[in-house]
Amino acid sequence: MTTYNFCAGPAMLPVDVMKQAQEELINWQQHGCSVMEVSHRSPSFMAVAEKAEQDLRDLLQIPANYKVLFMHGGGRGQFSAVPLNLLSPTGQADYVISGSWSQAAAEEAAKFGRVQSLDIRQKQSDGLRTIQSPAEWSLSAQADYVHCCPNETVDGIEFVGLPHTEKPIIADLSSTILSRPIQISDYGLIYAGAQKNIGPSGLTLVIVRDDLLNTAHRTIPCIQDYRLTAQHDSMFNTPPTFAWYLAGLVFDWLKRQGGVATMAEKNQAKADLLYGYLDQSDFYRNDVAPEFRSWMNVPFFLADDGLNSRFVEQAEANGLLALKGHRSVGGMRASIYNAMPIEGVQALISFMQQFERSHG
Ligand code: PMP
Repeated sequence: MTTYNFCAGPAMLPVDVMKQAQEELINWQQHGCSVMEVSHRSPSFMAVAEKAEQDLRDLLQIPANYKVLFMHGGGRGQFSAVPLNLLSPTGQADYVISGSWSQAAAEEAAKFGRVQSLDIRQKQSDGLRTIQSPAEWSLSAQADYVHCCPNETVDGIEFVGLPHTEKPIIADLSSTILSRPIQISDYGLIYAGAQKNIGPSGLTLVIVRDDLLNTAHRTIPCIQDYRLTAQHDSMFNTPPTFAWYLAGLVFDWLKRQGGVATMAEKNQAKADLLYGYLDQSDFYRNDVAPEFRSWMNVPFFLADDGLNSRFVEQAEANGLLALKGHRSVGGMRASIYNAMPIEGVQALISFMQQFERSHG
């Protein structure tokens, strides 16, 4: 039976990449050991590290004045690294709240300095969840930066526009990076935990404009210091080498797929298919206004909550894994990142139809 893994993260990785990693695992490049077991400073690992960075730069067309950092600590590590590096002792930062991850980022930043939270969540008269568009955000003139999370993994809310502001925009792209083209120069800094669209957990990507590297204002742990990390090409301490290697395989795979523009077409097609099905159904529903629906994380609810555990159980029995919604939201969630083929979404929809027929 073919299985499809809808987990929000750690998430499904491309099957071709997993096969390559499996083939290379024990005897990587004829070294007689695995890539996990070689020095990060060895020429062969350095070549892996450099190729991964170059491929990422090509995929996202990262301008030369941006550094790419391969860090530890996941998304939450960045929730503290961002204010530690960028929030001045007397300054303030604007945190735009569109869901639970941006809320968590704001709470963490408030430990280190002054934070203005702008809650942009709203409900339409028909009950659908929506958010204010960027032009409506009331940003403060004195903020050191504006933090936002363009794709909220738990809430299933995504926005693509950004506000017009002179302030650096800091974006948590953990669950949407590489899913569609973006203009890097619109951002001061982007970060993303690897475990959704990049590779295994344990690696965190940071893409930062180099003028922001001189702003660490206080005592800061070495492994969270952007400037230090950049000065040492992300090797001040031992980086998560296996995750870095695997990310490199994913970047290579993405290039072979045709890059992020092709991924965007595929991701839109998958999302349209699933939302289209949900919208015509009385048995299932998604409650996000169409223009803010996430391409990556699709929460949905059964009309009868009492069927939730049976749905999850039977889905698993049919090879459709990890559909249970986030505990704070309930219902179901299908995460359909880059590695999920359209066949996975088709299989999910035919299971949902069948489940409706036998329980509707
Ligand atoms: N930001 C977003 C958008 C996320 O989806 C997550 C995790 N799902 C995090 C931050 C936290 O990441 P981590 O668990 O790597 O700290």
